[in-house]
Amino acid sequence: MLIFIDQSTDRMLKKIARVFLVILVIAAVIFFGFVPGMVDKSKNTVALKVVNPPKQSWYDSIPFIADLHCDELLWDRNLLAEHTYGHVDVPRMLKANMALQVFTIVSKTPKHMNIEHNDSKTDNITLLSFAQLRPFNTWFNVTNRALNQCSELHAFAEKSNGQFRVITSKATLQQYIKDRAANHNITAGMLGIEGAHCLNDDIENLYKVYNAGVRYIGLAHFFDNEWAGSAHGINKGGLTAKGKELVKKMDSLHVIIDLAHASPKTIDDVLAFTNSPVIVSHTGVQGVCNNTRNLSDAHLLSIGKHNGLVGIGFWETAVCGTDAAATARTIRYVADKIGVDKVALGSDFDGAIGTHFDVTGLPLIVNALLKEGFNRNEIEMIMGGNVRDFFLRNLPEK
Ligand SMILES: [Zn+2]
Repeated sequence: MLIFIDQSTDRMLKKIARVFLVILVIAAVIFFGFVPGMVDKSKNTVALKVVNPPKQSWYDSIPFIADLHCDELLWDRNLLAEHTYGHVDVPRMLKANMALQVFTIVSKTPKHMNIEHNDSKTDNITLLSFAQLRPFNTWFNVTNRALNQCSELHAFAEKSNGQFRVITSKATLQQYIKDRAANHNITAGMLGIEGAHCLNDDIENLYKVYNAGVRYIGLAHFFDNEWAGSAHGINKGGLTAKGKELVKKMDSLHVIIDLAHASPKTIDDVLAFTNSPVIVSHTGVQGVCNNTRNLSDAHLLSIGKHNGLVGIGFWETAVCGTDAAATARTIRYVADKIGVDKVALGSDFDGAIGTHFDVTGLPLIVNALLKEGFNRNEIEMIMGGNVRDFFLRNLPEK
């Protein structure tokens, strides 16, 4: 059957096609150009814009300020440029006299994420990776997402003209400490992973992320996976047989175990199974803020006995508050229970959380620690000395 289209219908169809194309282009510009930034800005908020926070006269001479956890690499940001939103970038780290920030990799998070029950069926990061126009191989593959974020951090270091470097070993950390004693205007990052699910059920991928620079791995994130149970999963089981293999291989490579987000059973199993060092990179404690996200007193004590290091967060669910006083109160509790040499900062900056301040607000933590009765030497340990010493003991040699 022939269909005859007269000239005016033809003109109208072409017009509709042109309008449709224009709408498509505008939608694409909004989706790819603005949506990732809007999500970033709305998720990583700062309640108080603290410009030039009150600083102790000795703040800038604190030798090594460090933070165990931030998710900046998830967002589509130039780490080397100063931003008016989010929590961390290199210029702001330099303003805060920051020596080391661990950059952690988030590769999959469930929709309607909560701290009680989540399964692994849905994923927010697929759409985010697409909207950010990350490489195609990251859209549907969690290992590639992790490797992409690692290579981004290394690329920033290369472009930084020596101002930012990535620490991967005792040797690189020792050299960095030496260099920074002569030049305070440099800073550094290290790589960690949130959730071993990003190994995609293949233990060989551990070597890939290790070669990409990852030096600690959180066994589970918001859902149970093939290696370990999550505090926020459905079954909240322990370390699986595969998980034990993974822990053994991590030990042999000197990749540190992070117990943040781990289920109580996973924490028990890991501490019983291995003598290797553990951290809890970003957490709170139930003794101060009682919820399933935070460590029980029993776990706090056993992690202390295990010579672990506990990073205290800056957000509501961790410390039941978002100001520096709330974080300092929890640090006091942990120091009294397991020792001032086992507590550190674990901000979770840029981890889709709201805080009172960005990284330039760290002097407020120092002031709050003084109010908690810590002396200057103890504050230097909490602010980063403990992190430095832990990594000097436990990173691979070279
Ligand atoms: Zn986390």
